[in-house]
Amino acid sequence: MLVMKFGGSSVADENQIHKVLEIARSRASRRPVIVSSAHKGITDALLNAGKAAAKGEPDAGQIIEKQRRVLKGCGCDHDMLDPFFREIEDLLRGISLVREASKRSLDYLAGFGERMSVRVIADYFTRNGVKAEAFDAWDLGFITDENFGGARPLPGYEARMLTEFKRRVGSDVLPVITGFVGKTSGGELTTVGRNGSDFSATCFAAGLGAEECEIWTDTDGVMTADPSLVKDARSIPYMSFAEASELAYYGGRVLHPSTLLPAIKRNIPVRVLNTNRPQHPGTVITEDGGDNPNMVTSIAYKEGQAVITIESTQMLGQPGFLAKVFDVLGREKVDIDMISTSEISVSMTCPGASNLNGAMKALEQFGRVSVVTDKTIVCVVGKNVKKQRGLGAKVFTALRDSEVNVEMISQGANKINLSFLIDDSDVKKAVPALHDALFEG
Ligand code: ASP
Repeated sequence: MLVMKFGGSSVADENQIHKVLEIARSRASRRPVIVSSAHKGITDALLNAGKAAAKGEPDAGQIIEKQRRVLKGCGCDHDMLDPFFREIEDLLRGISLVREASKRSLDYLAGFGERMSVRVIADYFTRNGVKAEAFDAWDLGFITDENFGGARPLPGYEARMLTEFKRRVGSDVLPVITGFVGKTSGGELTTVGRNGSDFSATCFAAGLGAEECEIWTDTDGVMTADPSLVKDARSIPYMSFAEASELAYYGGRVLHPSTLLPAIKRNIPVRVLNTNRPQHPGTVITEDGGDNPNMVTSIAYKEGQAVITIESTQMLGQPGFLAKVFDVLGREKVDIDMISTSEISVSMTCPGASNLNGAMKALEQFGRVSVVTDKTIVCVVGKNVKKQRGLGAKVFTALRDSEVNVEMISQGANKINLSFLIDDSDVKKAVPALHDALFEG
C-alpha cells in the first residue's frame, strides 16, 4: 500500500486534479490511498471569513465562489456541496452573533476545506474511470485529543485506523481521505494545525503499514535552500529523518515539522515529489539517509523571531537558576528555540513577541529583561556537519563577506545543525551567500 498526500496547490483546480488522477493511475498496482488538502486558498478564505464574522460581518460569499469555481471546472453537479455551503453560512452567522471565534469554532470552520475537496476529487476520479470514494479521516480512525488548532491522534490510532479501514474501504475503490482534520472521541471537529495534512498522511501511512508515504507538492523534493531566495537551489536526492526533521523545524518550507514522527516510529520512507513534474525522482527521506557528497545537506531559515535576554548576577554559581527561568517560560507557554548563556546573562529565541507580556513580567524577578524582535534563525543542516573541518570558517567568512552580522550561535545538540541568528533584513543576503559558499564553492 502507498499513501499519497496532495497539497493545496496540487489540487487547486481541474487542471491540477487531472494531474493527480494520472499520478494515481500510474501507481494503481501499489494500492494507493490519497490524503488531500483543501484546494489552494480555501483554508485561508475560511479562516479570514471566521475573523470577519467575529467582528460582526458574516460573509461566506468568497469561499462559496472559490469552491464553486473548482466544482464547475471539474464538471461536478453544481449542487453537490450545497449542504456544506449552508452549514458554513450558518456557522459564520453563529460566530457573528456571539462575536467570538474560539479555537474550537475556527477548527470547525477550517475543516470544511478538506471535507469539500475530497468529495470533489473522488467524484472527478470516478467520472474519469478511477473508482474513488471520499472519506472523512475520523471515520477511518483519526480520533484526536481536544487540543483545538493543534490536535494529535489519541494513542492506539494505528490499530484503530487499520480496523476502520478494513471495515469501511472496499478493495475496488481508491480512498480519498481528508488531511488536516480529525474528531475528538466526543465528536467535535479538530484540526492538527496549519499545513498539517502531511502529518495526517504519515499517520495513515503508519496506521495502514504503507510501504512508503509520498508527499506531492510543487517543488522537486526538498531543496538545498529556499528557491525563492536562491536561484541555483537544487533538489536533494536523499536525506535522513533527522536531517529532514531539523529542516522542517527550522523553517524548511516543504514539510510540516510533525510530519516525520509517525514515519520514524514505523520506519516508513517519505518521498517528496512534484505534482507538476512527476517524472522527477524528488527527495527520499529514510532512517539512514543514504550518501550525501556535500558538506551540508540544506539551509533553512525561520524569520520573525524574538530574543529574550535576562541579565542577572543571581545566576553566578546558582544551581537551579535556569530551571526557575524555564519553569516561568513553560507556564507562560513560550516556545524556546536557541539558547546561549554567559555567567551573568541568558538569551533565548522564541517565535515572535506577540504573547510575551506575561512572561516578561514574571521574568523580571530574576534580573533585567529585554526583548528584541525581527530576527531570523538560519540553520545549516547535514549529517556531515559534525565531521566537517572548516565548516564554521566557511559559514562565517561567507557572512562576513556579505556584511551580515551574527548575534547568537549554536551547534545543535544532535550535531547535525549549525544555527545562528541574524537580522530579518539580512536574510536575502545571507542565504544566497551561504549557498554559494557551501554548495558551489
Ligand atoms: N488546508 C490546511 C492548510 O492550508 C492544511 C494543509 O493544507 O496541509 O493549512
